[in-house]
Amino acid sequence: MKLIRFGAPGVEKPGLLLEDGTRLDVSEFGEDYTEYFFETDGPDRLQHWLNNNIAECPKIAEDVRLGPPLVRPSKLVCVGLNYAKHAQESGMNIPSEPVLFFKATSAIVGPNDDVVIPKGSLKTDWEVELAFVIGKRASYVSEQEAMDHVAGYLLHNDYSEREYQLEREGQWVKGKSCDTFAPLGPFLATKDEIPDPHNLNLWLTLNGEMMQNSNTSDFVFGIPKLVSYISEFMTLLPGDIVSTGTPFGVGLGLNPPKYLKAGDMVELGIEGLGSSKQKAIAYQ
Ligand code: ZN
Repeated sequence: MKLIRFGAPGVEKPGLLLEDGTRLDVSEFGEDYTEYFFETDGPDRLQHWLNNNIAECPKIAEDVRLGPPLVRPSKLVCVGLNYAKHAQESGMNIPSEPVLFFKATSAIVGPNDDVVIPKGSLKTDWEVELAFVIGKRASYVSEQEAMDHVAGYLLHNDYSEREYQLEREGQWVKGKSCDTFAPLGPFLATKDEIPDPHNLNLWLTLNGEMMQNSNTSDFVFGIPKLVSYISEFMTLLPGDIVSTGTPFGVGLGLNPPKYLKAGDMVELGIEGLGSSKQKAIAYQ
C-alpha cells in the first residue's frame, strides 16, 4: 500500500495512492497515520477495511496538496556519512559505527512544499535520502529481528544549512532543523512494496541538472544494522522515521561549493518511492 495525506498544512486527511495513480480519500476509515496506527497493524486493518469500502471512497482532486504521508512522529533520526563517497566529499572519514543526529520534527513538510531558505542563510544545501518508518517498538533489537520493526519506506530531502551545521559550535542539529527542511513523501510505501531497500536508485536535480545519482547498495551500514544500533541508545516508537544518509553530490562537495538561492527548483526521487519537488524561497 502507498499511504498519502492530503489537504491544507496541519489539517491533512489520510488517503491512498492506487497502482493506477488514483488518489483515494480514506478518512472514513476513522484514523490518521499516527503512532497508534502503526503500533496496531494499521496498514493491515486499513487493507481489510478497504476491501469492503473502496467503492465509497471519494477520489482526491488532482490539484489538492499532498502533506507528509504520516502524522508528525516522536523522532526523526538521521544517519550521517552513510555512503562512502559522500563522506569523502565532506572531508570526513568513513565512520566505524553509524553517525546519528536528530532533525526537529517541526521541520517536516509535504513533498512539494516550498523550502524556505532560513533568515540570513548563505549555505542551504540538499540531500536526497531513503527514509524508513518504524512499525513496531524497537529497544535492543538484534540485526536478525530488525526488519520486523520496519513498517515501510519514503523519500526524504534532508535539507542542511552548512554554516549552522559545521561552522557554528556544537551539534549538527542546528543545521538540520529549520522549518521546511524535511519534505517527506509523496507517499509511504509499506514494506511489501519494496522487496530490496538495499538496491534502489536515488537521484536529485537542481534546476534540471543532475547533482546526485546513486544507489542504496553503496550504504556503509544497512537498515538492519541501523535499527539494531539505534535501538541500543533509544527506543524507536511506531511511526518514528530514520533517514539513512545521502550519497555523493551535495552542494558542499562541489568546487566551489554551490548553495540554494530563491527561485531554485530541487527535484528528487527514489526507485519505487516516487519523486518530489521543492522551490526555494527566501525567508519572510
Ligand atoms: Zn542527511
